[in-house]
Amino acid sequence: MATPANRLPCVGVFGGTFDPVHAAHLRMADAFWQQCRLTQLHLVPAGQPYHRAQGPQASAEQRLAMLQLAIAGRPGWLADDREVHRPRHAYTIETLEEIRAELPAGSALWFLVGGDSLQNLHTWHRWRELFDVANLAVAVRPGFDPAHLHPDIARRWQAAQVADFSNSAPSGTMRALTLPPVPLSATQLRTQLAQGEDCSGQIAKPVLAYIRQHQLYR
Ligand code: ATP
Repeated sequence: MATPANRLPCVGVFGGTFDPVHAAHLRMADAFWQQCRLTQLHLVPAGQPYHRAQGPQASAEQRLAMLQLAIAGRPGWLADDREVHRPRHAYTIETLEEIRAELPAGSALWFLVGGDSLQNLHTWHRWRELFDVANLAVAVRPGFDPAHLHPDIARRWQAAQVADFSNSAPSGTMRALTLPPVPLSATQLRTQLAQGEDCSGQIAKPVLAYIRQHQLYR
């Protein structure tokens, strides 16, 4: 996409299962877009197979289609299908390396993680390399306490946080996003949909229409 003159791309990556994409995801994406001053945002649905303890689930193609409907008309936002079409499990570091390789040298790359995920970051495949490839934006949920982070991550949190983001570093920094809490989860919405509840306040209209048309989450 077009980037303002003299500005290298500043690209954000937001991965999730998006089963289905809901209002909290879009609020997070909005905060990410604005606060990191992104010029492009990749929303990356996880591919199959993934396992859930219970309940019906949409296929990867359906989750991708719902995401496309939810973000239609947002310039710079794209539903990125690279994990959906990968024949095996995709590690975050590989997805980020792939996107990084598509960008001009020196571009800023931001990866969005939930505060919960930050607590387990040290268990992720090649987690230390995430910081070589991208910056981390953390969507902090109420109750988040850096004291509970793994010591390696806590050290990074202390060392890599920067207050002024006007000069986006290509990678290696961290920041917390200011985000009002949205008490919403896809799990809860799947239950509500299965019970025939109206979820129009939490799910975008075209996505709800898609869910009905494809008889998902019944
Ligand atoms: P599920 O209930 O099926 O686990 P989810 O609603 O948490 O789904 P995901 O697709 O797993 O949605 O979420 C993608 C990312 O968005 C994750 O990092 C998750 O922590 C974050 N997220 C989802 N809902 C919220 C919310 N209400 N507030 C803050 N972060 C959220």
